Amino acid sequence: PATPDAATLAPALDLLKRVWGYDAFRGVQAQIVSTVAGGGNAMVLMPTGGGKSLCYQVPSLLRPGVGIIVSPLIALMKDQVDTLRGLGVRAAYLNSTLSLDGVREVEAALLSGELDLLYAAPERLLLPRMLDLLERAPVALFAVDEAHCVSQWGHDFRPEYQGLSVLPDRFPDVPRMALTATADDRTRADILRVLDLGAAPQFVSSFDRPNIQYRVGQKDSPKTQLLEFIRAEHAGDAGIVYCLSRKSVEETAKWLQAQGVDAVAYHAGLPPRERTHAQDRFLNEEGLVVVATVAFGMGIDKPNVRFVAHLDLPKSMEGYYQETGRAGRDGLPSTAWMVYGLSDVVNVRRMLASSDAPEEVKRVEAGKLDALLTYCETAACRREVLLAYFGEAYQGPCGNCDTCLNPPQVRDMTREAQMALSAAIRTGNRFGAAHLTDVLLGRATEKVVSMNHHTLPTFGVGTAHDEKTWRGVLRQLVSLGFLAAGEHHGLSATGKARTLLKGETTLTLRADTLMPHAAGRRAGK
Ligand code: ADP
Ligand code: ZN
Repeated sequence: PATPDAATLAPALDLLKRVWGYDAFRGVQAQIVSTVAGGGNAMVLMPTGGGKSLCYQVPSLLRPGVGIIVSPLIALMKDQVDTLRGLGVRAAYLNSTLSLDGVREVEAALLSGELDLLYAAPERLLLPRMLDLLERAPVALFAVDEAHCVSQWGHDFRPEYQGLSVLPDRFPDVPRMALTATADDRTRADILRVLDLGAAPQFVSSFDRPNIQYRVGQKDSPKTQLLEFIRAEHAGDAGIVYCLSRKSVEETAKWLQAQGVDAVAYHAGLPPRERTHAQDRFLNEEGLVVVATVAFGMGIDKPNVRFVAHLDLPKSMEGYYQETGRAGRDGLPSTAWMVYGLSDVVNVRRMLASSDAPEEVKRVEAGKLDALLTYCETAACRREVLLAYFGEAYQGPCGNCDTCLNPPQVRDMTREAQMALSAAIRTGNRFGAAHLTDVLLGRATEKVVSMNHHTLPTFGVGTAHDEKTWRGVLRQLVSLGFLAAGEHHGLSATGKARTLLKGETTLTLRADTLMPHAAGRRAGK
């Protein structure tokens, strides 16, 4: 669609100024607003923090009737509605937290035309009673937020979202928009199908977040590495630290507190009151560090989060992008910092392999994990790899990621890779990295001797390198899919390994460098 001219946009701009106090739309916002305000449908792909809310809020106010926002984030509806009411917008929400009286009140307001915006959980919206009601009330538009929830290919499938396919049937004349921050081709196709948006214009914004500095390092002593990072670059800043398990969330939070960092734990196993308290503190205080599982952060709009740290690998690139995207929404320099190690790679690979999801889903998930690991192991510009995953042809160097700031050494490690693979094969494809390293380094440990592995030709072939290098080689082989992680962390050579052993492919690996190298000086500090 063409850029709307000034006259068409004037009422929208006027509203933007009057209600929100903003002077201009950002990027494609103007096109989206004028499309939907004019009665058209729209598919919106915009990164977190890109400004999706205004894309449906403004047209809802411009059009007669109430704008219906479908959202899975019950916990956040109240906040959003409170904020809107503070701006003088007549907003309400419908979800399972409301009392029966509360529901009746909202329904009455809806029917008498006293609402501009109504947020609803999908299962609420799809109640027959609610749909009947909406047929009697003028509806300005339907906006389906977090639209990737319709797809089981997404990372956040919600079956009730699929029921939204009734909207195009029952309300063919009401504009529909789908909004999401993450959608690969398959997810996007599902969204278009369920909401019947095949003919609608698609508005895709760049996913680049230039103010975020991406850094990935090797896990050595994670807590200490984290502390050093915070002290050196983000003392007194607000940040989020992601861990995989509840236990490590609590341990890490406690440890940071003991080191004098203002930190609080957050995970789904905590009592609701404690969770709300942590969330409120994070939003209202200046320099709090939240240590959390991925349960934390969906929809949290704190503009000045200065860093997001991962002590464990996220599940996918989508997850990584979304979690790191919570940093620097205000546009100021921020850091996405992650450490990972061999055991993480082995763990996630194993978890995936042993899950009882359908084969097809497992394959897709393995693909997503591969993409993430490729990102972790890359010697190229991280931003380039990250954006390529989301279908954007970005040409590095970006100058604001660890590989651009400190280009890693790459070495031809084909011979070392062959040695490591043959150590795995000759020991029967069932030993873990520690044992394989012992064999490569020629250490006649009790286990090595009892297995007779000290008599193998591979025994001691790797003494030219130290233990850290070998663990690095093994990690990269697992990450890149030449070794598979099985039960008891045993590593086995995959079909892909053959080409490498035969010398048909060569392997260039990052020479292992120890984290954390502060990647250059941070702007503004
Ligand atoms: P998303 O839902 O895409 O993650 P939001 O709608 O929450 O993003 O917007 C992110 C931030 O950007 C909010 O603080 C919002 O007020 C601000 N913002 C969005 N659009 C504009 C604009 N046109 N001018 C100024 N600030 C904006
Ligand atoms: Zn870069």
